[in-house]
Order: sequence, then C-alpha cells, then structure tokens
Amino acid sequence: MKAVIFDKILKFVTDYPKPEPQKGEALIKVNTIGICNTDFEITKGYMGYKGILGHEFTGVVEEINGDNKSLIGKRVVGEINCGCKECDYCKQGLERHCFNRSTLGIWKREGCFAEYVCLPVSNLLEIPDTVKDEEAVFVEPLAAALEILEQIHIAPDKKVIVLGDGKLGLLIALTLNACGLNIMLVGKHEEKLSIAAQQGVKTKLLSELEIKKEYDYVVEATGSITGFETSLALTRPRGTLVLKSTIAASKEFNLAPIVIDEITVIGSRCGQFAAALRLLESRRIDVKPLISDIFSIDKAIEAFERNKEKSSVKVLVKVD
Ligand SMILES: [Zn+2]
Ligand SMILES: [Zn+2]
Repeated sequence: MKAVIFDKILKFVTDYPKPEPQKGEALIKVNTIGICNTDFEITKGYMGYKGILGHEFTGVVEEINGDNKSLIGKRVVGEINCGCKECDYCKQGLERHCFNRSTLGIWKREGCFAEYVCLPVSNLLEIPDTVKDEEAVFVEPLAAALEILEQIHIAPDKKVIVLGDGKLGLLIALTLNACGLNIMLVGKHEEKLSIAAQQGVKTKLLSELEIKKEYDYVVEATGSITGFETSLALTRPRGTLVLKSTIAASKEFNLAPIVIDEITVIGSRCGQFAAALRLLESRRIDVKPLISDIFSIDKAIEAFERNKEKSSVKVLVKVD
C-alpha cells in the first residue's frame, strides 16, 4: 500500500505491507489525513520514531477482528493513544497517560499516513453525517484545544490571551471563544489572525501588543522559548500559564518569574474526541478556513514541504 514513512528521512513508498488488525482492532481505509506539527517534529528526530507517520485521519472501517462489527462501513475518527486497559490511568479513562501506551504514528504504533491503518475498536468514534471529512480530520487538535477546559475552570470575567497563530493557537482561540470566554489571540501573521477574527475572536499583532502582566490565563502555543518568555511576561501574579506546545529548549531561560509571581504552570496535551466532534457538529466554529491546501497522497512529500512554509496553516492529504 501507499504510505509515508520516516526512517532517517521522509519517504513516500507504494509497497508498504497492508496492516492486519489484531484482536479488538479495526482495519480502516483512510480518507483524509492532517499534517500536524508533531509529524514535522518527528522528521527532525522527536521521540526517535520510525515507521508510518500521521495521527490525524478520517476513514471508513473495512474489517474488525472481534465480535462487535457494528462499525463496519462507518466513517470514523480515532483516538490516538492506545492504553493497556489494566492500569489505574486506563481504568479512569485516561489512556492518554497509560505508561504502557502506544500512540498512533508517534510512539510504538504505525501511523495513519497510508491507505490503511489499524486501531482498537474502542478508540473509534463515528463521524456525524453533517460533519465532512475535511472538518472531522481536525478532531485531534480540537480535542487538544478542549483539553484546557477539562483541566482548568476559567470564569467568564477572567482575561485570557492565546499566544501563537499557528494551527493549534487558532483552534484554541476559536474553541475558547465559542465557549464564551473573554479571549484575545496574539500572533505575528495578519492573514492567520484574520481567520480567527472573522469568527469573532479579538486579535492583535504581537508587535502591537503592550507586554504587561495583566492576563489571568495565558495559553502558550508558539512552541518557541521567546513565546514562553513573552507568555510569562503577560501572566499576572497568581495567574495561570497553560503550555500547549512542547518547547525543545535550545538556550537557557529564566524561570524565576514563575516563583516571584507565584504562577501556576499547566502542561496540556491530548483531549477527548467526543467533545471535539460535538463542537464540530454544533457549527459553533468553522475549521475549513484553516485549510491551506489539499494534496493527494502521491504528492505527500510536497504536502510536507507546503506544511513547512510560514504562510500555510493546515495541510490535508487525501487518499483515494
Ligand atoms: Zn496532531
Ligand atoms: Zn494502561
């Protein structure tokens, strides 16, 4: 089958073996794939991952190795973390934190950047009829945006600022705004900010923002140390800083403001897919304006190149 793999370099191959579903797993024919910054990080060595890339997809269930076959023929998305189902985390529904987990296209599990992918049936959610593939493929990053609200309660009168106008920053801003919070999105790219502004989000260019410790909640979604430092400089004493991007430190930075201002720092990663699907179904946010380009899987390498360009937001790949 066609697949995009990473093994020292990024490769598009046409002769990768089709996966076989293990007990409890489904074989899914992939329709649409989203390129995520995590995929790009993997091509730079993140997690030391080798194999098929990709964790954002929609597809149709073709085969199930198990008794309950009700999802066969259904359009689905799939939670990317596969837990052991036995540990305390798994028992609390937190497979995302299982120590023995595998993660689609990131850790110990072949990804979805291919014609077929396998996942446990229990990870799959049916896509509502009214939600298109090009929308449902956003469910993983949207769930990551919603995760913030699973972790903290933000009262409606509090000031929230989101830093970073990339894919994740935009989705976070749209999501928190749709939930009625008092938010502002800050970034460096006017055209990207306008995607959020058109859906009612207050936005500002970083160059025009006054850096003052006045925000109760600051969401860091830039992925850079300077972004982190700016985030700290915006968090009011006793405020909360939410880290949404994995920042690989390449220089020393000063953590003293966290102590001096008694800032609560919260790391935030994957969220629940069901809530994200409901948000898409409700039409309270429109993810389609985030799509910069759609490539066919045969042009996957070009799609990765496009993803690297600063002007791109979300690059999708279609498998036919
Ligand atoms: Zn992702
Ligand atoms: Zn577990």
